[in-house]
Amino acid sequence: MRDSTRDRPAAPDRPAGGPIGGYTTLRLGGPAGHLVVADDEATLLEVLRAPHPEGLFVLAGGSNVVVADEGFPGTVLLLRTRGVRAVADGADRVRLTVAAGEPWDEVVARAVADGLAGIECLSGVPGSAGATPIQNVGAYGQEVAETIVSVRAFDRVADAVVTLAPDECAFSYRTSVFKHNDRFVVLAVDFSLTVSPLSTPIRYAELARALGVSPGDRVPLGAVRDTVLKLRTGKAMVLDPADPDTYSVGSFFTNPIVSSAVFAGLSERLGDVPHWPAPDDAVKLSAAWLIERAGFPKGFTREGTGVGISTRHTLALTNRGAGTTTQLLDLAREIRAGVAERFGVDLHPEPVLINCAL
Ligand SMILES: Cc1cc2nc3c(=O)[nH]c(=O)nc-3n(C[C@H](O)[C@H](O)[C@H](O)COP(=O)(O)OP(=O)(O)OC[C@H]3O[C@@H](n4cnc5c(N)ncnc54)[C@H](O)[C@@H]3O)c2cc1C
Repeated sequence: MRDSTRDRPAAPDRPAGGPIGGYTTLRLGGPAGHLVVADDEATLLEVLRAPHPEGLFVLAGGSNVVVADEGFPGTVLLLRTRGVRAVADGADRVRLTVAAGEPWDEVVARAVADGLAGIECLSGVPGSAGATPIQNVGAYGQEVAETIVSVRAFDRVADAVVTLAPDECAFSYRTSVFKHNDRFVVLAVDFSLTVSPLSTPIRYAELARALGVSPGDRVPLGAVRDTVLKLRTGKAMVLDPADPDTYSVGSFFTNPIVSSAVFAGLSERLGDVPHWPAPDDAVKLSAAWLIERAGFPKGFTREGTGVGISTRHTLALTNRGAGTTTQLLDLAREIRAGVAERFGVDLHPEPVLINCAL
């Protein structure tokens, strides 16, 4: 086990900010009581089994967390396990077993290069492979729930390593059994990918347009990856250490899901309201559309703070370099209150809030 309060790991992609903030994409958050790096599974299990009287918090890529300015008094476990194993699964599928600490975009890049379809639209999503099941990572018409065939995890209640089938993971829109639940720590994820030079059918209208194809068409994997990366870069959704517009957690709010009756009321009042169908006859609204129409455009900021809405993406709340978590959460509260007042719709934060609340 490496005690990083003495031996800080090199994190070239995350310049040090605060002691925890330096490991997060927002670059916000105060000190940890104790920082420990686990770069192999035995160490990881050892740390997980040790007592942590002040609490334990697992931090991987730090791209979906908001850490309090006061930090976290307990142990912060930096998850850095590596390893990818590919095994043929019949004639036209390959099963990838990916260690939790593998950088997700490297997994996608390798799958695309190896002619494996199923995760190409998830190019450019930051963070670790092990965190992808936590909120059922999704983008541009794909979600990991479509390709995950099992999740190996440490069950802290049973004190045992368990393997969860997809139905036990309870995947749905930006959530799963793992989200807001300390019970399971993901050790490795198995993905079943299709051997094909072409992508899965393109579902996302904006991506289809950018590729010059119709929804439902299949496209060479490399073209999908390149186009997704280009679209994401245009929205500040690809990390760039030189660009504070990308110092965010991606989307700060999930797209709200409302009943069809609420949607009908909004449409009557406002006319054309962007929406998508959601399970159980519900309707998913565009959080970005609601936020903009509630008076919070791209680039919005409050004088005297170091935080603001990205100039390229309404849903991304950014630390412009000199912000604090308190300022970021105040901005989030202001936006949430504005949307509730104007439209009667509640927004929910997508990231996990550590030692702080909205
Ligand atoms: C610029 C940008 C763009 C983004 N775009 C998208 C997008 O398009 N789609 C999308 O879905 N998300 C997106 N995100 C959010 C984020 O990248 C994903 O949620 C990612 O999966 C988080 O991975 P991580 O390793 O950084 O997790 P962390 O931020 O380190 O952790 C997030 C949560 O997961 C827990 N956790 C992490 N690893 C494990 C593990 N192995 N076992 C148990 N719990 C664990 C942590 O304790 C914490 O609660 C974006 C973020 C940024 C900054």
